[in-house]
Amino acid sequence: MSIIVQKFGGTSVADTQKILGAARKAIRSAQAGHQVVVVVSAMGKTTDRLINLAKEITERPSSRELDMLMSSGEQITIALLAIALESLGYKAVSMTGAQIGIKTDSSHTKARIKTIDTERMRKALNDGKIVIAAGFQGVDESGNITTLGRGGSDTSAVALAAALGAEECEIYTDVDGIYTTDPRLLPEARKVAQISYDEMLELASLGAGVMHSRSIEFAKKFAVNVHVRSSFSDTAGSLITALPEGSAPVAGVAVAKNEAQLTLVGVPDKPGNAMRIFSKIADAKIATDMIVQNVGVDGKTDVAFTVPGTDLTATLDVLQSLVSNIGAEKVEWKENAVKLSIVGLGMESQPGVAEKMFRALSEQNINIAMITTSGIKISALVDRDCTMAAIRAVHNAFSLQTPVTAAAGKKKTPQKAGGYHRRRETNVSAFVPLHSSYLGMEDILIESITLDKQQSRITLPDIPDKPGIAAEVFEKIAAAKIVVDMIVQSSSRDGRAIISFTVPRNVLDKALKVVRKLSADWKADEPLYNPAAAILSVHGTGLRSHTGLAYRMFRTLADGGINVNIISTSERCVSVTVDDKSGEKGLQLFDKEFANEKL
Ligand code: ADP
Ligand code: ASP
Ligand code: MG
Repeated sequence: MSIIVQKFGGTSVADTQKILGAARKAIRSAQAGHQVVVVVSAMGKTTDRLINLAKEITERPSSRELDMLMSSGEQITIALLAIALESLGYKAVSMTGAQIGIKTDSSHTKARIKTIDTERMRKALNDGKIVIAAGFQGVDESGNITTLGRGGSDTSAVALAAALGAEECEIYTDVDGIYTTDPRLLPEARKVAQISYDEMLELASLGAGVMHSRSIEFAKKFAVNVHVRSSFSDTAGSLITALPEGSAPVAGVAVAKNEAQLTLVGVPDKPGNAMRIFSKIADAKIATDMIVQNVGVDGKTDVAFTVPGTDLTATLDVLQSLVSNIGAEKVEWKENAVKLSIVGLGMESQPGVAEKMFRALSEQNINIAMITTSGIKISALVDRDCTMAAIRAVHNAFSLQTPVTAAAGKKKTPQKAGGYHRRRETNVSAFVPLHSSYLGMEDILIESITLDKQQSRITLPDIPDKPGIAAEVFEKIAAAKIVVDMIVQSSSRDGRAIISFTVPRNVLDKALKVVRKLSADWKADEPLYNPAAAILSVHGTGLRSHTGLAYRMFRTLADGGINVNIISTSERCVSVTVDDKSGEKGLQLFDKEFANEKL
């Protein structure tokens, strides 16, 4: 008998009528002949309310007690849903995270799932019961209750679907599918029929709150078909699966509205400093993004990056303790920045995407404070006041409101999943032998490590910090038929900004001609360049949210005395540029460092 996992989010179980509605959906699946596991969130805004109660007492409640407190929200819903099902004449049993067998590590409030023991769940299912599982929670080795991070019920649901080898994981929510951008922000956003794991993972990680990004890591790793649909209607939703909807360069736009931008000013430009900074931040389990370590001037460099606004205080604590340690000058920060990102598998093979985005923003007179790119995403940091204009401009520029036609999109029928592991209808321990060191379900998996030795790096060290500059640079470069790879633009200082990017070495001269002319037009300093640059990349899944990975890359290079220039991070890939001469050595060091995690 096939198993279906259904998950209902907070709004979908906000009151008892809605809980009865969820019960009916579960009953319908049971009547269709499935064994049903329902994962639920806390009712409505319960989790926020619980956190606020603790904060009425202290600003810094201990994370263990916060987990104890927050987990109570889901416990209310599971009991009410089981009561609802019983009242409708169905057998049901509610279970907490510990009772369903979800074992996590001990990182309170951000715990990762290690194993799921499905025995008790299977027994209940085989007894003809609908199993109601509390989302968002687990238990560590010592029996302490843990939670998986805000929005983590999605992750519970997909993880259970993986462990049970479920036919599908249905995510019932208050929108009827995945849209090209948040439909509450932009009414003309379009619902997609399907989206690839890679795109959804990146979008979720960059702010599309419709799915917890870690749930998509599970979905990809264990080849779970995820169907996102409405709690309040029966229309078909969107399938998250192995393949994209079509071949358009951009699948969606994500917005992270509350980003904090931090800059460590005047960091001595030598091996090991990036490592020290990011190791400390990784220890605090803070996910950094938009890391821009620009090319050093006078032996000093600025290291800038963004973190979610909610992590600002914790990040500042870390940085303040580091400043004198690493010989930096000071820490600067800015709150309330908005990170706008475009994501699409198609952009890897289609040139011209970056300049189109920058041009769309510049036409609205929107200044870009930082830029980072990586594989299938481009992010730009803009002022909060420009949020709506920026989303609309970028969404329009890529015609995301227009349905994918047969010509643009390859297939009409949604594809079933295909991932790393063949699913088996057995306990999750069946996956473990696939890799000797593969102990935890959420452990990082690395697909490959690559070295591209034929690159050159160009840096424009002194450009006017005003709307349209990035667009101008990359339009002119594209007009010369040059494909750029990593792009970073730093935060501005004294009204000037720095842009660095890489180009294939055989077109360096052509690219230099373009940027020299631009610098002359702006009466700016001459471009700098390193003709012999190499890009070292680690490819995998969930690389950004596993906060320790970038740190281990930096540490490995620092231990080998290799200096890092440009850094770019995404969920699929973390890349650094190094000097050509160090490339091979870096590759060997990485192969050794990540030997145990490689697929
Ligand atoms: P739940 O409580 O069911 O987990 P969430 O509030 O976490 O629901 O997620 C659903 C919300 O995600 C929607 O109401 C929508 O505003 C938001 N959202 C953000 N980006 C997208 C997107 N690309 N597609 C659909 N919804 C999105
Ligand atoms: N109740 C938790 C939260 O609000 C988990 C979830 O809803 O997914 O973050
Ligand atoms: Mg959610």
